[in-house]
Amino acid sequence: MKSTAPVEKNLVYTVEIEDLTYQGMGVAKIEHFPIFIADSIPGEKIETKIIKVQKNFAFGRVEKVLEESPDRVESNDAAYTQTGIAPLQHITYDAQLKFKQNQIKNLLKKSHLEDLEVADTVGMENPTGYRNKAQIPVRKIKGKLQTGFFKRNSHDLVPIEDFYIQDPVIDKVIVEVRDILREFYIDPYREAENKGIIRNIMVRRGRRSGQIMVVLITRTKDVPHLAEITEAIAAIDGVVSVIQNINYKQTNVIMGDEDRVLAGESVIHDELLGLDFIISAHSFYQVNPIQTEKLYQLAIDKAGLTGEETVIDVYSGIGTISLAMAKAAKKVYGVEIVKEAVQDAKINAFQNNASNTEFVVGKAEEQMQKWQEDGLKPDVVVVDPPRKGLDQSVIDATVGMKPKRVVYVSCNPATLVRDIDRFGEQGYVVNQPIVPVDQFPQTPHVESVTVLERA
Ligand code: SAH
Repeated sequence: MKSTAPVEKNLVYTVEIEDLTYQGMGVAKIEHFPIFIADSIPGEKIETKIIKVQKNFAFGRVEKVLEESPDRVESNDAAYTQTGIAPLQHITYDAQLKFKQNQIKNLLKKSHLEDLEVADTVGMENPTGYRNKAQIPVRKIKGKLQTGFFKRNSHDLVPIEDFYIQDPVIDKVIVEVRDILREFYIDPYREAENKGIIRNIMVRRGRRSGQIMVVLITRTKDVPHLAEITEAIAAIDGVVSVIQNINYKQTNVIMGDEDRVLAGESVIHDELLGLDFIISAHSFYQVNPIQTEKLYQLAIDKAGLTGEETVIDVYSGIGTISLAMAKAAKKVYGVEIVKEAVQDAKINAFQNNASNTEFVVGKAEEQMQKWQEDGLKPDVVVVDPPRKGLDQSVIDATVGMKPKRVVYVSCNPATLVRDIDRFGEQGYVVNQPIVPVDQFPQTPHVESVTVLERA
C-alpha cells in the first residue's frame, strides 16, 4: 500500500514542537500528521530528520535546534535521551514538574473532570542519583561484554557507566560486576537465538542501610567459574547478598522463577519513616526512597487516621504503607499477589512490632470480594495498583464495603482518571487537590495521591 504520509524517510523538515507525549517525546505536525521527536521541547523550532514513517505517524530526530526553549538545559549525554533511562534530562527540573502536573490536568479535562484541582508536583531537591534499584542488560558489542541500557523501542544496547538517575554507588557496583564477568569470559546473552549465559544484572541498595543485593540473571543454571565470580562479587564493599536467578525463556520478562542464594543473605534491609524493612529479590520496593517517604506521609495524612480505624492496603507489596499506617490505626489488612513480598511483609510486621496487621497472598480482584462477603467494614481503603489501575471488581467490592475514604496512590494518571470516574458513578467524590509526587525525575512517569470520599 502506498503511504499517504506527507513526510519521507531521511528527509529534513523544519517544524515547531507543539506538545509533549506521555513518553516525553516532542510532537510536531505537518499537514496534521504527527511526528514524534525525542530530545525536543514544546515551543521549539527545529530541523528534524525523519527516521521512520508509519501509517498514521512518524519518528524524527533533532538535526538542529533553530529556536531554543527557555526550558532546555544543556544535554548531559545523548545516551540518556536515546535510551529510556532519562528521556526528560534535556528539560529543566521546574518544567518537568509542571509537565507532570499538566499531564494529570489534561487527562481530567478530557474526561470532563476539569473541576478537580491538581496541586503543584512535589519535587526533589537533587533530582539525580535517586534510584535504589537497577536492572541492567548485559550484551556483547564488538566482542566485548558491555552493560548499559537499551535504545528506545529497541534492544540495541548503549554502553553506559554513569546512569545519572541511579544511586552512584549502584553504578560503581555494576562496573565492578561487569569487570568480574569480563575477567572470566562469561558469554553475554544473545536474544535472537536464546543463547549465551549472563542476561542481566540486578542491583538494589538500601539508601539508609547501605546494604547491597546483586542478582545475576542467567539463562543457564551452570555458569563457568561461578564460585570465583561469587567470591569476587561478595567482596565488593556493601554487598550482603549475592543471588543467581535463572531465566531459561526467550522473553522480555527479566527474571525467571528459579533463585539460589550464592553468598550471604537472601534479603537486604532498608528503613522508611523510621521502620525497618526486609526486601527480597522478587519483591516490589519503591525506587526513590527520598520521595517515597513524602508519598507515604501524604497518604497517611490524607487517610485521616485517629487510631480507631480499620484499614485495607490493597497491593501491599512488602507492607510498607500498611506498617506506616498501623501505627495510627486499629487494624490494617494487606493483600498482595507476590508470595515472597507477603512473606517479607509478615516478617516486617513482626520486626516492627505491628501485631495489628494481617497480610494475605492473593489477587486484589478476588480478595476484596472475599472480604466484602465476610462483612469486613474498613474505614479507609488504600490502593496502590500497578499501571493498569483498578479492575472494576476491585472498585465494586471497595464501594460495597462503604469505607469513608479511599486513598488512591497512582503511578499512571490515565488509569487514575478512568478510576476516579468509575468511583464517581458510585458516589465517591474528590474534594481535595490531587497531589503529584515526583518519584521518577528525568523520566515522564507521574505518581500521585488522590482522596475519594463517600458523598
Ligand atoms: N504499596 C506497595 C506496593 C505497590 S506496587 C509499595 O508502596 O511498596 C503494586 C503491587 O501490586 C506490587 O507489589 C505487585 O506485586 C502487586 N500486584 C500486582 N497485581 C496485583 C493483583 N492483581 N492483586 C494483588 N496485588 C497485585
